[in-house]
Amino acid sequence: MNFNGIDFDTYFKNYPDANGYFGKYGGSYIPNDLQKAMNEITEAYFTICKSSKFVSELRRIRKEFQGRPTPISHLERLSSSLGNVQLYVKREDLNHTGAHKLNHCMGEALLAKYMGKKKVIAETGAGQHGVALATAAAYFGLQCDIYMGSVDIKKQAPNVARMKILGANVVEVTHGLATLKEAVDAAFEAYTKEYKDAIYCIGSVVGPHPFPMMVRDFQSVVGIEAREQFIEMTGELPDAIVACVGGGSNAAGFFSGFLNDPVDIYGVEPLGRGEKLGDHAASLTYGSEGVMHGFNSIMLKDSNGEPAPVYSVASGLDYPSSGPEHAFLHDIGRVKYDVVNDEQTIDAFYALSRLEGIIPAIESAHAVAYGVKLAQKMGKGSVLINLSGRGDKDMDYIIEKYGIR
Ligand SMILES: *Cc1c(COP(=O)(O)O)cnc(C)c1O
Repeated sequence: MNFNGIDFDTYFKNYPDANGYFGKYGGSYIPNDLQKAMNEITEAYFTICKSSKFVSELRRIRKEFQGRPTPISHLERLSSSLGNVQLYVKREDLNHTGAHKLNHCMGEALLAKYMGKKKVIAETGAGQHGVALATAAAYFGLQCDIYMGSVDIKKQAPNVARMKILGANVVEVTHGLATLKEAVDAAFEAYTKEYKDAIYCIGSVVGPHPFPMMVRDFQSVVGIEAREQFIEMTGELPDAIVACVGGGSNAAGFFSGFLNDPVDIYGVEPLGRGEKLGDHAASLTYGSEGVMHGFNSIMLKDSNGEPAPVYSVASGLDYPSSGPEHAFLHDIGRVKYDVVNDEQTIDAFYALSRLEGIIPAIESAHAVAYGVKLAQKMGKGSVLINLSGRGDKDMDYIIEKYGIR
């Protein structure tokens, strides 16, 4: 399929290019010593991860440990409450550990094992990536250092406990605001010193090349399964698909299965409290081109051109940029990026819980909220939503802040 001059039959061969660019977005903007480590990972990715031994081991792990394939569920009661459009969800909430993140963490940790590394290093904000990586490290018998700001350590006590139970070393970062940004800096610094024995594992389709490509490829299992399952269930492709976008990993993997199909694709960003800078994290909708965290993409900047403060009710979505592939798909128009706010998200959280018996992660509830909007607009047809994770982690917060509805 040709779309706005881009040939999607050969898309995955050409995007990203050899230097990690999706059009003008992506690349690698990092110090030289770190670049050496990235080159090593890139080379290992192309030799090891494409080998049949690696592919078949990862396939076995997906089935026997992660519980894949995850099913697609038809949302019969929610759909009929809205009209004639049929809504479906791809159930990444049923992937082991309750979200899609384990898909790329298992891939990254398996690569670490094949490369002979002894340790995996990462930062975490809300702790979801830290828990997924700690799980993968336990499975493969790797050491695991998770850098986390002291503010986040206090806020996210259950995830800190999970990481420790899984055997990870949670390294407290106390300087600056002591949140995610400082944790990223500390993790990168540690990695620069330890890269002979360790591998850095990014939590989304962000950062320098090869991570946006590698994480997308590890997440593509979601899109491949979903396309096959949906056709088997209904005999046809969905008319539209929807996923929430923070850094963009669940969306990138899910979308990859449908980019070459006549399917409308929607990425949903968090509008939070509103359109004012600082009240949302809708980077593709309101942002502009810039470099941060080692890659060129579309980002939200403050008046000094630095990454702007962002907000979302979903801690997994409050990132001031998105992966370079999303910036590219945004510019060529293959994916439409749009927003839903906190209120619409909480409504969808309760609708899915009450009508379907599925408590979604607040991140995923953004996608459900948009699916509901789309169903009302379309009038007929089908919408497949990626339910990126389950809501157990969010229940206390929702009850405290919004009460039982
Ligand atoms: C982390 C997280 C997200 C956001 O990350 P992406 O890289 O944008 O997918 C979305 N949903 C859940 C459940 C998460 O844990």
